[in-house]
Amino acid sequence: MKNDSVFVYSPDLLGYKFSETHPFNQLRVQLAYELLRDSGCLNDDQIIKPRQATDEEIILIHDPGYVEAVKQAGQGQLNREIALNYGLGTEDTPIFPNMHEASSWIVGATLTAVDHVMEGKSKHALSLSGGLHHGFRGKASGFCIYNDSSIAIEYMKRKYNARVLYVDTDAHHGDGVQWAFYDDPDVCTLSIHETGRYLFPGTGSIHEKGAGKGYGFSFNVPVDAFTEDESFLECYEKSLWEVAEFFKPDVIITQNGVDAHYYDPLTHLSVTMKTYTEIPRIAKKVAEKYCGGRWIATGGGGYDIWRVVPRAWSYLWCVMNDQAPSGQIAENWLKRWTNEAKHPLPPTWEDESGIYKPIPRKDEITSKNRATLEKSLYSIKKSS
Ligand SMILES: [Zn+2]
Repeated sequence: MKNDSVFVYSPDLLGYKFSETHPFNQLRVQLAYELLRDSGCLNDDQIIKPRQATDEEIILIHDPGYVEAVKQAGQGQLNREIALNYGLGTEDTPIFPNMHEASSWIVGATLTAVDHVMEGKSKHALSLSGGLHHGFRGKASGFCIYNDSSIAIEYMKRKYNARVLYVDTDAHHGDGVQWAFYDDPDVCTLSIHETGRYLFPGTGSIHEKGAGKGYGFSFNVPVDAFTEDESFLECYEKSLWEVAEFFKPDVIITQNGVDAHYYDPLTHLSVTMKTYTEIPRIAKKVAEKYCGGRWIATGGGGYDIWRVVPRAWSYLWCVMNDQAPSGQIAENWLKRWTNEAKHPLPPTWEDESGIYKPIPRKDEITSKNRATLEKSLYSIKKSS
């Protein structure tokens, strides 16, 4: 094995862009890439180039009619009313030129990561442009057009006959992936997210357990708003070990959205960089114990593209590679981006202490999350 981990990247992945003002901004993938390069944490021989996904691959999950609509929309040829029926041209998911091609690159990047790991060329692979977990079979939703994770899972099932565990730590529920495999006992989904009471997409309750033969293979741990590092990590670590022990996957694919951070403008959780060093560390251990190390990681949400995403995704790559950057952020990187950044760039890898005021409800939130976790895992306890 040449490298333990590979990083899938090319500028082709940056074309997924709704508008200048849309919160989903793939510049963050470039920012993370450059931060890693400037920090000496990513070498030429660890980078592999993505390919575009084919239509046959995309329709492993998506309806052909929807794919056709995305193609037409990207050429300016889709009637507005039909577009809206497909979730295209909404405020969340506007139409942009060549949106099919841009989305196919992202799907292809995640499939490139999958093939590398499943063919044994590396143990781990990272596809930061992917993780578009809200995409449905026949509908765009929540900034997501094609669901690269769902396509990758179906692809792994068919090509490699694999049992796949999908783990989603984005602040939003991983609804698209959950519903795509809701009745499938060979795919297990675990999502830890902010409760859907006040947050998009509103689903992801502990009662969504799967259907038919897939009953008991869908797990959700919805945590309370203002959840901090310790409680978020407790929910994540316990649920991941228990679910992995129950399901015994052949491979793990993680969605590493980083929008649970306190600074994120779209959500209400209060985790810090500490969570984003621990999440990959535990995923890697679990993959080592159950899957011969096989672990594919994607990006996902993350809307503070200056203070949060570059550091959090760089940590993800570094932890994959047993590196632990700390202290000062690379001077070159800070210099290059300081003028463009909407916020003062953080000078260190770690968050400074006290980025938010302590709240009196912390203990109450922790106990509530513990009770939720307990109930989420109840079906495992009952069956064992
Ligand atoms: Zn999100």
